Formats: sequence, structure tokens, C-alpha cells
Amino acid sequence: MGSKLSALLLIVGVGLGSIGCDLIKKKVSKDEKTAKADEDDDDAPTKTATAAPTQSAAAQPAGQFVYLYDPPASAALKLYEPLFKAGSRLETVAGAMNVYALPRKVPVVAGECGRIDASYSPSKHAITLCVELADAFYKNFLAGGRDDPTASKLTLDALTFTLLHEMGHALVQELELGVTGGEEDAVDDLAALILIQNKKAEWAIAGTQALIELTKGQKPQFFDEHSFSEQRLGNVLCMVLGSDPNKHMGLLDQIPDLKPRAPKCPKEYQQKDKAWTQLLEPHLRK
Ligand SMILES: [Zn+2]
Repeated sequence: MGSKLSALLLIVGVGLGSIGCDLIKKKVSKDEKTAKADEDDDDAPTKTATAAPTQSAAAQPAGQFVYLYDPPASAALKLYEPLFKAGSRLETVAGAMNVYALPRKVPVVAGECGRIDASYSPSKHAITLCVELADAFYKNFLAGGRDDPTASKLTLDALTFTLLHEMGHALVQELELGVTGGEEDAVDDLAALILIQNKKAEWAIAGTQALIELTKGQKPQFFDEHSFSEQRLGNVLCMVLGSDPNKHMGLLDQIPDLKPRAPKCPKEYQQKDKAWTQLLEPHLRK
């Protein structure tokens, strides 16, 4: 209760609070334009393809996250440029996380990977955010019956959660934080805490819903380090509920399976908030 993480994250909130949904509108109109352009001339060069990475890695001081966008070569993936380019929500969020001081520069590279993925590499000290992941999220949301504006919004929301999850891995490794309960679950918790405390709980929910779609039909991996996607959603929902049971009581009507766990969610939320507050407070940038 009244933990310090909330205060720290309000600083992050300066960045998060101002981003709004303009980007999504831009993306939707871009979708329409791109679809038209594709019909008209498949070989036409796309003007946005020449956009340079948003920042020069060499120009950045050490000890912070540095967001870089490497425009995809594939025409189909250019559709997602508004989500990733300079000034995007993802860049803003990555920058806002620099309230924490890192011992070295950690590039956050968004671009085409040739696979559906997002990852943090401890050996490369870098985060990779694949544009293909946006494509998979977007198509899955559409296939799930969402209309285009909703699918676009959910895609950006899910990517934001994913980015914060990967930045959580980077914080754990770069700051040599001791976490228990499994790092995958721990960094889901951090991403959810940040979003809940910045009044963007729905972005965390979208993030784990997107994972359910992504892993649907796959053989259960009982020995995998990740919890099942449904469990990840359940953990996020419990945190959202626990953060403010009165406000989020409606979740129990939408997802009755959460009811047996609901009484424990406030305590669970407080524990996670306290744990991350204690872990990160010493690393707050002076
Ligand atoms: Zn992970």
C-alpha cells in the first residue's frame, strides 16, 4: 500500500500519459492507404522505406535504453511502420524507462527479423522487437472477429506490454536483480504494474490476450520457462483486479473463472508492487 514503485512509475507516467491513441488512428488510415497502394502498384517503392533509424546508437551516452527503428524491407510489413517509427508510443515508453540507470547502453531494436519474436539477449545486451510480431498480433485480432480499428489498437497495446516485458528482462539481467517465482512471470508482473499504475491496465490485458492467440493450438510445453498464455492472462487480470477491486469488479462478470482467486488478488498485487519497488528503487536515476 502506498508503495514507492507507484511514485517511481508516475515519473514513467509522464511519458506514458501523453501518448494517447493518435497513433492508432494514423495506423488505421495508413492501413487503408497501404492496401490501396498495394492494389495499384505492387512494385512501387514505399516512401517511408528510406526512413533512417530514429537515433544514432553511437551518439547516445552509455547507461540507458536506446530505441532504434530499422524499417523493414518487406512491403507487407511497412504497414506497421506507424507503430514503430520515431515518435511512436513504443519509442516513448522505451525512453520513459530510462528513469532507471543502466550500467551500459541497451539498444531496443525494432525491425524485420524473419520470425515472429521479441527478445532480450543478455550476451548482446540488446532487445529485439520484431515487426512480424505486430503482423501476427494484428492478423490474430482480426481473425478473432475484431474490426480493423480495434485490432489496430489492441496490436499496439499488446506490443507495448511485450516491450515492457522485454525491458523487464533487461533490467533483471543488466542490474543483476534477484527474482524468484521465475523471471518470465516476474517481468510480466513488472510490465503489468507499470501499465496498471499508469492507468493502462487494458494494455497489459491485451498483451496476454495476444499471447493466447499466438500460442493457440500449440502442444502444451510443460517444461517451458513461460507459464501458459492463459495463466499469464490470469495473473495480469488478478493484478488488475487486486490493484483496485471496486473499480475492476466488472472483470469477474466477464471472466467468471477468476472468481475463486479474486479474494487473494489485492494481497498478490501488493506483494508484487512491494517486491519490484524494493528491487528497482536503488537503481532510480539520480
Ligand atoms: Zn520473456
